[in-house]
Amino acid sequence: MPHRPYIVGNWKMNGSRAMLAEARAIDRAAARYPDVQVALAPPFTLIGALREAVTAMGVGGQDCHAQAKGAHTGDVSAAMLVDTGADVVIVGHSERRKDHAESDAVVKAKAEAALTAGLGIIVCVGETLEERDAGKAEAVVAGQIDHSLPSADVAGDAVAAGKVAVAYEPVWAIGTGRVAAVSDVVAMHAAIRERLLALYGETGAKVRILYGGSVNAGNAAELLAADGVGGALVGGASLTAEAFLPIVAAAGTGEA
Ligand code: PEP
Repeated sequence: MPHRPYIVGNWKMNGSRAMLAEARAIDRAAARYPDVQVALAPPFTLIGALREAVTAMGVGGQDCHAQAKGAHTGDVSAAMLVDTGADVVIVGHSERRKDHAESDAVVKAKAEAALTAGLGIIVCVGETLEERDAGKAEAVVAGQIDHSLPSADVAGDAVAAGKVAVAYEPVWAIGTGRVAAVSDVVAMHAAIRERLLALYGETGAKVRILYGGSVNAGNAAELLAADGVGGALVGGASLTAEAFLPIVAAAGTGEA
């Protein structure tokens, strides 16, 4: 892997203060793997508490609004995420694209707002099973990259600084226990890299491309060793330290 691997847990709409003990355990392990960048994205309600509870790992939001403030009931802006202690935000997760009808343009606006507020970003892309079966996976993902990523002028130095990551998450692999074939992951990551280089020039090489979709202790080592895989975005297996730590360990060379 050319970059420091990035392992990010997405707790989705799970977690209460009782789960902070898991976060602390994950954080202690993250400290033993300085060659791995680890972050957890809990629900909004836990970001502040998690920030206070951990020291070695990053804390992320799972979404933000594209506007800095205003009449958007129930939404949270990127600046608010920063204020409560987040350093990164996931945007364009397929569950948000589907549940909230988020278009590529909306995802791009959120990504640009997040960078402007000083957050790192993880922009999610991925095809549905129907799109893969129709032979359209690469075209769909290329379109998402072209239209969901921040433009080069807005991204500025953030790309070179490693603050922009992409998560390739085939929709059919999320939460299903079905993992993409390593050869398909390698091919898609190469296609994504090509688009990133077209978008950002040679600094596009600095964007880490994570794989997401049913990553667990049993498959992490093979996926993380695959060509072009710069880390993992992990849902279900990030909810406990017991399930998440082997994934961090598979990415690093520290002692367990
Ligand atoms: C995700 O939600 O981003 C994800 C990859 O979920 P899971 O690991 O549960 O498939």
